[in-house]
Amino acid sequence: MATADELRELMRTEGAAIAENTQGFNAGRYDSVGDLEDYEALKQAARSIKEDAIAELPDLLDQLTETIEANGGTVYIADDAADANEYIRNVVDDRAADRVVKSKSMTSEEIEVNDALEADGVDVVETDLGEWVLQVADEAPSHIVAPAIHKSRESIAELFNERFDPDEPLETAEELTHFAREKLGEQIINAEVGLTGANFIAADTGTMALVTSEGNARKTVAATDTHVAVAGVEKVIPTVADLHPFIELIGRSGTGQDITSYVSLLTPPVDTPVVDFTDDETPLSEFDSDRDFHLVLIDNGRLDMRDDEHLRETLYCIRCSACSNSCANFQSVGGHAFGGETYSGGIATGWEAGIEGLDVAEEFNDLCTGCTRCVNACPVGIDIPWINTVVRDRINRGKDTPGDWLVDGLTPDEEDDGAPLQKRFFGNFETVAKLGSATAPVSNWLADTGVSRQVMERVLGIDPRRDLPAFERETLVDWAAARDSQVDDPERRAVLYPDLYTNHVQVERGKAAVKVLESLGVDVVVPPAPSSGRAPLSQGMVATATDHAERVTEALEPYTADGRDVVVIEPSDHAMFTREYERLLDESAFTDIAENSYEVFEYVFGLLDNGASIEALSTVAGAEIAYHSHCQQRTLGLEAHTVAVLEECGYDVVTSDVECCGMAGSFGYKSDYYELSMDVGDRLRTQLRDDGVQNRPVVASGTSCLEQIDALLERQPRHPIELLAT
Ligand code: SF4
Repeated sequence: MATADELRELMRTEGAAIAENTQGFNAGRYDSVGDLEDYEALKQAARSIKEDAIAELPDLLDQLTETIEANGGTVYIADDAADANEYIRNVVDDRAADRVVKSKSMTSEEIEVNDALEADGVDVVETDLGEWVLQVADEAPSHIVAPAIHKSRESIAELFNERFDPDEPLETAEELTHFAREKLGEQIINAEVGLTGANFIAADTGTMALVTSEGNARKTVAATDTHVAVAGVEKVIPTVADLHPFIELIGRSGTGQDITSYVSLLTPPVDTPVVDFTDDETPLSEFDSDRDFHLVLIDNGRLDMRDDEHLRETLYCIRCSACSNSCANFQSVGGHAFGGETYSGGIATGWEAGIEGLDVAEEFNDLCTGCTRCVNACPVGIDIPWINTVVRDRINRGKDTPGDWLVDGLTPDEEDDGAPLQKRFFGNFETVAKLGSATAPVSNWLADTGVSRQVMERVLGIDPRRDLPAFERETLVDWAAARDSQVDDPERRAVLYPDLYTNHVQVERGKAAVKVLESLGVDVVVPPAPSSGRAPLSQGMVATATDHAERVTEALEPYTADGRDVVVIEPSDHAMFTREYERLLDESAFTDIAENSYEVFEYVFGLLDNGASIEALSTVAGAEIAYHSHCQQRTLGLEAHTVAVLEECGYDVVTSDVECCGMAGSFGYKSDYYELSMDVGDRLRTQLRDDGVQNRPVVASGTSCLEQIDALLERQPRHPIELLAT
């Protein structure tokens, strides 16, 4: 696991370049997919093709083998990296090749074929510009699409000038790319073997799609007489017609290009002549076109992943990088921290757990905060946060934590063993909150003493720079129980879910929500209910989260059965009810709570839309306000309701567009991640300090966002529901 020092160093040295590039790609994605009328249909089509392809994989591999052999090529299915490398080394040896030119291929990085060939004395040259820069610098990729994304133009110029000592020092992007093009051109001309990856391979024709920015894949194939393509077995799709949605989506999702600069469809062995670049006399048609083609398909754990109900979805990944670019943490630290042996970004947990094992996944798994901003960005709809959660759960279970027996005895969770103390603490925050409220204000005073903070830092890894939540003595449930409903003839009836923070910490927003709903003619009850399970789920404590889900639905079922709607203030809990509970509950329990639950502004919007009077709420005439919506609320498409209601109440609303505030529940409290959390938050701070925004009061929907904004700004933020209460 990357330490706070390592993360700080990466943010210092690579953070600026990574942030600029990933945020640029991410903004480009929004623009590019926004131009597609059928974006969701294309995603659905791509998903469905991948689901079918993985389901039928053994048959597709047989079909592809037959097809390629009929085309004149050879297929080798390698069990693992060593097996693949042995085959490739033999091909290169048989060809008596001194030089192999490569186009970019993550799978070839995975098997470390360069090292294997170089050990045989073969000169291996990367021809993708980014990969070549890294080869010259002897560095590892930091991004699955743009491997040198962490390097600035200045650092590349310094590298080239030092290494190649050109006549004139190189400086501009044009000078650098021209220099690289000349150098790589010489290498390609004199190579015997071209090694490529393959983005997709159609089983019906043997056609492979190679998607590149520089056209170098096609060059390495055209200029050499022996083509070796290396790909994971999951790259096979049934037909060449199935390429359509992927070609539409891959560039838009990754780099924001409507179509990637070079899309090469090759059906190897291709029958164009092999050019002799030293002979410019002979017509091209007279050159030999006898080419050799080898497709090396790698298993390396993938077939076991196919049999794993949770990791299987990883195999749908088309390696577009949208999950990296849309990830707030990745935007700060990049793949050198947020990545394993080969793969980086959110989906890397699935790949690395399946291919390398849990030990490798553990190194970076905690950098996924489960904010879900990658979910809608993924062109094949992979539930990346869920894969991260399951892997976290497996990592926890494999641990042998000292003092387990004591922790087991003291904590009320459902974890048998293993989960580290810090995770157990945050996963059991409900117990802490109950105790905190019962003994407030003493608990708040005690927790904030220097000695307590030192113990918390040492034992639980809670950063002393973070303010702790202050518990209220009177909970929202207590307050509601002590008052009568203010609605005689209700239009609707609702149960306001007392989420952990609203009930124990931010009680005022709960009271405001009750008053707003009552003003709009809703009869509201606030019964005791367990916490949603969000806290244990975010720590990878799936059994405990499932227990919470079951108890919550048991507590709320009598109310939904009685016709009450479930209104939820905390967006991350609403997302539990409408998204994550599908993984934790049986279908009917999930459907019951999901279909009856509403985020509080979604509910208010619906009431107003159905005839409730805005006059019943506190309205203003053009007051300026800045709004930051919650990441999970945005994933569910619910932020627009808040903006619409605030505008109807007369507010002039400016909204932030950062993917996440950086706090993410317990994440920002942890000493290892405090500075990363603040670095991510800095983007929000910048937006909230922009011209025209700097003096606006700030409202935010999520508990974590409110805490983070409170730490970032002098202006104390509020939940927007508090503006509406009369
Ligand atoms: S998981 Fe989805 S978004 Fe991430 S790289 Fe794979 S296809 Fe792209």
